[in-house]
Amino acid sequence: MDLYEYQAKDLFASHGVPTLPGSVANDANEARVVAEGIGGKVVIKAQVKTGGRGKAGGVKLADSPAEAAEKAEAILGLDIKGHVVHRVLVAEASDIAEEYYFSFLLDRANRTFLCIASAEGGVEIEEVARTNPDAVAKIAIDPIAGVDLAKARDIAAKANYPEAVRESAAEVIVKLWETFVAEDATLVEVNPLVRDPQDKIIALDGKVTLDENAAFRQPGHAALVDTKTEDPLEAKAKQHDLNYVKLDGQVGIIGNGAGLVMSTLDVVAYAGERHSGVKPANFLDIGGGASAEVMAAGLDVVLGDPDVKAVFVNVFGGITACDAVADGIVSALGMLGDGATKPLVVRLDGNNVDEGRRILAEANHPLVTLVDTMDNAADKAAELAAAGA
Ligand code: GDP
Ligand code: MN
Repeated sequence: MDLYEYQAKDLFASHGVPTLPGSVANDANEARVVAEGIGGKVVIKAQVKTGGRGKAGGVKLADSPAEAAEKAEAILGLDIKGHVVHRVLVAEASDIAEEYYFSFLLDRANRTFLCIASAEGGVEIEEVARTNPDAVAKIAIDPIAGVDLAKARDIAAKANYPEAVRESAAEVIVKLWETFVAEDATLVEVNPLVRDPQDKIIALDGKVTLDENAAFRQPGHAALVDTKTEDPLEAKAKQHDLNYVKLDGQVGIIGNGAGLVMSTLDVVAYAGERHSGVKPANFLDIGGGASAEVMAAGLDVVLGDPDVKAVFVNVFGGITACDAVADGIVSALGMLGDGATKPLVVRLDGNNVDEGRRILAEANHPLVTLVDTMDNAADKAAELAAAGA
């Protein structure tokens, strides 16, 4: 889960990383009130989960509360790379002597953590890496040893942060590492990490990605979910612990096992080319133990997508055999009753397939079509979706 800048900086502050005081505002008047509370010069910043806000006109300075309201008015409603601004952060403005780049992230390829740091910050780090690769330090972090002050000094030196602020930068780096670990983050990025005219080091921007797999031990993180912009179907799937990703097609997909679902998306996309270009509407992996309840929850989510015109249920019976899955489908349709309105193409294979097919044939549900092979089932589902579209 990606956080908004203001949430990232709240986490920073709670771990002792220096930030500047501020609050979010939903409209120009709230921005004025926050600016009055801060007093003096403030910065108004669009709160959207994308970078490059500065360039897009989403970051503005204001000298007075009236000007803060005016600038907030100009920023609210902006569309920044497809993200509409609904809120702004109003924070004490900093004078800037220099801007640096700093991040900790999960380095999946090398199965470790990585620190990327540069004395050239404030601009996109990809740009610095392209034009001046020597200015970007990449330092592997041993997850067991972590980052103590000695390691942080080493990082600050490799990043080429100026000597005058190296020690204070190192202290901030240790706190950023503490944030990264304590919050189960997969990314903590500060761009710019700023040196102010008094040589103070301040996190002026913050980007944090939290590891959702750690949600069970991070009870505080639930409050950071933005329910307003969360996709309602994804929220519903999450309630049922289902692995669901909404896509923009018309063929609903339900399968067991991530690999099978991925290849189902491929065959449906391929079949769709023969049927008015229909596409998969989602990724949904109901996992190994596809009980009736899980199947019902999955169908409920997929059928709740108004773009879905037909559903392809592609199940390979393993530990949960095909007969249990077939029972699951039949009772799920029973549980959904009139809620099930769209055609279902079911392909079963694997353990106990004959019994599974017999159960579905016997139930003879008007919405269900049983097809033997994955390719033929994908074709049928695409055909039905095209007919319903
Ligand atoms: P981004 O463009 O989305 O990464 O947003 P940032 O928060 O990084 O802001 C972009 C730029 O605006 C920064 O690199 C700074 O140059 C400038 N900026 C942000 N906050 C302040 C501030 O408090 N004072 C001043 N003078 N400039 C700021
Ligand atoms: Mn930034």
